[in-house]
Amino acid sequence: MDSFDTQHLWHPYAKIPNPIAAHKVRSANGVYLNLDNGECVIDGMSSWWSVIHGYNHPTLNKAISEQLAKMSHVMFGGLTHQSAIDLAKTLVAITPNNLSKVFFTDSGSVAVESALKMALQYWQNRGKNDKQKFVTIRGGYHGDTFGAMSVCDPDNGMHHLFKGMLAQHFFVKSPSMVDWHVALKDLKTTLKQNASSIATMILEPVVQGAGGMRFYDPQYLVEAKKLCEQHEVLFILDEIATGFGRTGKLFALEYVNVKPDILCLGKALTGGYLSLGVTLTSDEIANNVGTLMHGPTFMANPLACAVANASINLLLNSPWQDNITRIEKHLYQQLLPLKTNKKVADVRVLGAIGVVEMVDIIDMEKIQNRLIANGVWLRPYGKLLYTMPPFIIDDVAISTLTDAIKDSVKWL
Ligand SMILES: *Cc1c(COP(=O)(O)O)cnc(C)c1O
Repeated sequence: MDSFDTQHLWHPYAKIPNPIAAHKVRSANGVYLNLDNGECVIDGMSSWWSVIHGYNHPTLNKAISEQLAKMSHVMFGGLTHQSAIDLAKTLVAITPNNLSKVFFTDSGSVAVESALKMALQYWQNRGKNDKQKFVTIRGGYHGDTFGAMSVCDPDNGMHHLFKGMLAQHFFVKSPSMVDWHVALKDLKTTLKQNASSIATMILEPVVQGAGGMRFYDPQYLVEAKKLCEQHEVLFILDEIATGFGRTGKLFALEYVNVKPDILCLGKALTGGYLSLGVTLTSDEIANNVGTLMHGPTFMANPLACAVANASINLLLNSPWQDNITRIEKHLYQQLLPLKTNKKVADVRVLGAIGVVEMVDIIDMEKIQNRLIANGVWLRPYGKLLYTMPPFIIDDVAISTLTDAIKDSVKWL
């Protein structure tokens, strides 16, 4: 614990001074975080979905060093560089074949902002100036900037804090694994009544992450896309959390091969090394967007692009699907039995994601100290105790991880 940190540094979703002191990390290697007090914990969060290959990976380190020796940064306005070109080529190759235009940003939230702007500019340039609203499913999370916040879940998001400041959009029922048809009906009604004012739908495919760690039937995506097409509403998929293998497919949209008009990526894009986001779209949309009014200072940062190239190559040349299947099997076998516990409301597993939803709100500080004592780093929120470990986690480490979760549930 560092008292300067507690007194002066703002941490995510926290106040100053922070009543829950942050744990200082000295270094990190593989799946392990080495804490300043000498303890060593397994990172069950992959630093929020991103560190899929583990920390301090020689291949990723090398890619950054090589780029560093050439240049760490150069403005993207009027200039370009090989790492960005290579990365764009790869992204176009591995995403649905309608996506061919690439806009790099410096974070996931800004990738979402850019996607929303694309949709607005697209309709403006097509003379449909009334299309200025968005539609989304409840329980979503798309980032913390204003546009992104406005499409986050209206109840557990930050809508109450910025009421009056946030643009008002359409929220429809969230699909689930079983009753996604009901949710679809809600979307249908909303589109029927309001499509003339709606520019785009935006949603996370299959897994809703920070908005509640909920999974839903991918078939919803197929039907929702159809409805959007019928009503002249664009379709944005936010794969910032789900992209790059996490759900068992390279992209969650592959469960049903749905083709979004716009796709947002981030988080694991660089293997968790640097902040980078990207928004991809089609020829037709790009042509109609015209001049896209966005251009972050650190757009397409060369270090970030170089490590993203290395991370994607590493992933595609690894047995990542076997790894995800192995992790999924383990999480399933170890966590699902917790369902019978009276304190547990639900247990969900998909790919390398395991979620234990408690009946009551979890005391984060207490449970984190307990988890650390058991050699594990997790960051529960609300009623959710969940993990999305690095894909390289071995059988011993993942057992430590699930044992710690089981211990927490017993102890809570
Ligand atoms: C994390 C996340 C974002 C925001 O990305 P940042 O890099 O934190 O700005 C947007 N959408 C989804 C689905 C995310 O999980």
